[in-house]
Amino acid sequence: MSANPRPPLPESPAERLQILEDYVRSCKRCSLHATRTNAVPGTGPVDADVMIVGEAPGFNEDVQGKPFVGAAGKLLDTLLGQIGLDREKVYITNVLKCRPPQNRDPMPNEVEACSLFLQRQLEWIRPKVVLVLGRHALERLLPGYGPISRVHGTFVERGDLAYVPLYHPAAALHNGSLVGDLQRDFDKVKEYLDEVLAPAEPEPDPAIPDEMQQLPLL
Ligand code: URA
Repeated sequence: MSANPRPPLPESPAERLQILEDYVRSCKRCSLHATRTNAVPGTGPVDADVMIVGEAPGFNEDVQGKPFVGAAGKLLDTLLGQIGLDREKVYITNVLKCRPPQNRDPMPNEVEACSLFLQRQLEWIRPKVVLVLGRHALERLLPGYGPISRVHGTFVERGDLAYVPLYHPAAALHNGSLVGDLQRDFDKVKEYLDEVLAPAEPEPDPAIPDEMQQLPLL
């Protein structure tokens, strides 16, 4: 038996998520810990219907310890607002929880070292839909499904999760012609959410004749 057995994880997903976020803040599983100011585990409620996964924290996120708080985050907030969603209701995170120096692309060993965190966040939050921002998140969550230019705005069901690949808002800030695609894709996300969040139709009562099923009092 090990000298210091780990305490069992709490039952509640909210407490588990809190433990994971605290763990990420002190994580040293890859060399990015040496250059970060703050790790950025993610923000939002554990019972979020929508989870957003970006690439990695940038300058502002590293300083504040929160995801999508810079220019790309402002565009993301606008797109969420367009479909009536507030960022407080959404769980937002990234493939990498620490900023790569000079915002370079994530390296495979860093993605690998961080992957367990994203996996657990998906398992414990169990969102109705995961918005996959940009090619790095796409490659992590739906390997081989890209390229993003072809699959953005499509719905992908894998197991009990639904994903929507989307252009990364930072890409749209560089190339304004992508903003329209993002807006149209967010409208599709809203239609999908309206469908999955609509209250279930009551089952017809076999004891009531067909012609009476539609009467409002029944
Ligand atoms: N870009 C990302 O991918 N994530 C952030 O948190 C900010 C910018």
